[in-house]
Amino acid sequence: MGRRGEGEERKISSRGKVQSSGSKKNLRFDLHVHSSCSDGRDGVEEILEAAVAKKLDGIAITDHDSLEGTFEAERIVRDKKLNLLVIRGVEVSTADGHLLALGIRELPPRGRSPEETIEFVHQRGGIAIVSHPYHLFRHAMFRIPPCDAVEVYNSKYIFGIANWWAKKKAERLGLPMVAGSDAHMAKTVGLGVTIVEVEDDGGNDGGVVSAVLEAIRAGRVEIDGTKTSPAVFVGQTVRWVKRQLRPRPKR
Ligand SMILES: [Zn+2]
Ligand SMILES: [Zn+2]
Repeated sequence: MGRRGEGEERKISSRGKVQSSGSKKNLRFDLHVHSSCSDGRDGVEEILEAAVAKKLDGIAITDHDSLEGTFEAERIVRDKKLNLLVIRGVEVSTADGHLLALGIRELPPRGRSPEETIEFVHQRGGIAIVSHPYHLFRHAMFRIPPCDAVEVYNSKYIFGIANWWAKKKAERLGLPMVAGSDAHMAKTVGLGVTIVEVEDDGGNDGGVVSAVLEAIRAGRVEIDGTKTSPAVFVGQTVRWVKRQLRPRPKR
């Protein structure tokens, strides 16, 4: 467990409104998306098109223990000149559960402790976000290691108390709070949006991506994940229950 009191005096801007002012601007990201490069249904191109259609400013393709989808996203955005920022990402299977690593180009080894994995990510200039903590049956962590942010809104599981509990823990630890759709198909991209306040760039994409990572680390984030059609959630939950009832090989 990380030092409980660490950062307690830090201002949690996730709770307040992020405002655009002066040279600052707000960018909308889905920071947690799976493609067919891991267990997602749809290909990267379809996901990127959905992100553009949903007026996101950027996306992180975060496949399980693979950076393939994220590199493909960079290629597609470049080739097709899409108006979308790609944050490199991967959802790492640590020994204790899932962890999102953003902003790195080297794959963290799976099966290490969260602390070791976070150190690996930090050494390579990235940030580490605990994904869907306290969610049952999701390879979730049941503690918050010293990380950069906590996913307190995971759009796949809004009915349980896990999101609420994750938020309570993040608040207590003074950690920035983010949202992610955890989409496994293009149509659910954008159901969990993190609004990030960055300096108005005027520079290149690499600079903006660094600014986004820094802003998340600094807690200049706000969650916008509540405008979701309940029908989608009901469908997801029914499918999830059916999956749990079906015998399946262990991942
Ligand atoms: Zn996960
Ligand atoms: Zn995921």
